Amino acid sequence: MAGDPVAGDTAPEIGVLALQGDVREHLSALRAAGASPRPVRRPEELAAVSGLVIPGGESTTISKLAVAFGLLEPLRARVAEGLPVYGSCAGMIMLADKILDPRSGQETVGGIDMIVRRNAFGRQNESFEAAVEVAGVAGGPVHGVFIRAPWVESIGAGADSLAEFQGHPVAVRQGNLLATAFHPELTGDHRVHGLFVAMVRAAGR
Ligand code: GLN
Repeated sequence: MAGDPVAGDTAPEIGVLALQGDVREHLSALRAAGASPRPVRRPEELAAVSGLVIPGGESTTISKLAVAFGLLEPLRARVAEGLPVYGSCAGMIMLADKILDPRSGQETVGGIDMIVRRNAFGRQNESFEAAVEVAGVAGGPVHGVFIRAPWVESIGAGADSLAEFQGHPVAVRQGNLLATAFHPELTGDHRVHGLFVAMVRAAGR
């Protein structure tokens, strides 16, 4: 529970940023991975969770709505104080310190020392699936669903690549922040969400 110092055995309260994107899929994947999930749209709701998922969707829309809902600065503040956050696809873009090709006015929350390229895999390959071996996820490769996915163009010293595809990092961790270019929430395989729930528990939240 939020603020509960002995929350080890209880289901951590993890929010899903519910401005746009595949919110419902993340809520069910988190539930299956042992968390107590809830949608987050308001700063008060953000303040109450022990971890947060930023879903896949459209990063420009999520960015604009985060500004309109007064959530961008609170999100940056919670990331700065160590809140565990997991972003998939558009959520990965939101966690990048820099976008190579931002739309005008597009903001990120930032926190991961990396530069991402939006829609990086190109027109002919807008959506595809591939087996991806992810460091820290036991039991064989995950089924990576890539939908107009970004890739990581470059990564700073503070961040670790957990998985690569076609020579680019597609899963990255920096401290309490986790990002994947693909969408485990669409596969029924909850191991990546399990890794994130473990990160939230380890953060003692
Ligand atoms: N291309 C989208 C973006 O730039 C991300 C796509 C996704 O989340 N599936 O935000």
